[in-house]
Amino acid sequence: MQYNSEKIGLVNIFQEKRKSLSIRVFPNSDVVVKAPTEATQDEITSFIGRKQRWIKKQLDYFKQFTEPKEKEAVSGISLLYLGRQYQLIIQKSYLKNIVKVEKNKIVIYSSDPNNKEELKKDLDKWFLERAEKVFNERLKVCVQTFPNLEIPQLKIRKLKKRWGSYLTKHQIILNPMLIQAAKSGIDYIITHELCHFYQKEHNEQFFKMLELRIPQWKQIDSKMETLLLGK
Ligand SMILES: [Zn+2]
Repeated sequence: MQYNSEKIGLVNIFQEKRKSLSIRVFPNSDVVVKAPTEATQDEITSFIGRKQRWIKKQLDYFKQFTEPKEKEAVSGISLLYLGRQYQLIIQKSYLKNIVKVEKNKIVIYSSDPNNKEELKKDLDKWFLERAEKVFNERLKVCVQTFPNLEIPQLKIRKLKKRWGSYLTKHQIILNPMLIQAAKSGIDYIITHELCHFYQKEHNEQFFKMLELRIPQWKQIDSKMETLLLGK
């Protein structure tokens, strides 16, 4: 049996011969509840409800060890941008801080090349500006594959473990990290969200609509999953 909560995710429930309810959170974020065979669903649900806060705390504790640390902006590291690998170069310059793509390098020109915090800010800002530009361009292109669909409002917001989201009121949220993906990946995510305008659920109709526009979506999807998990 499983129990799903927005706050704590999926909880696996096992009923077995035992006297009382027990709960455990594992470092891989699995939550396991063991309940006596005669416990009712209501009893189990209210038990988990009472434990929600505690579960959340445990999950947060484990997360600090598993979440990838953000890269520092130092010369030599590799960065992904539009599906390609670039090397970051920090170049001393008398200009104010600017970021440029030069062949297979992303170069930050900086008057203060040792100020890591400032460099990181400049780089993040540049990526966000690129994301805004590219996502809006691709959105315009993808919308055209749907008959008479209005361009939704685009929001760029950090999302946990997902690339995008469709909100009612015709709004789309995209993860800024999506700028790492190739255009085919960006188009796939946008098209997926646009299909939600017609179909809320991931049902047969939904996937027909998607496949009509992106026949190779399954391949792209597995690539995007890998990228999301940072593998
Ligand atoms: Zn979806």
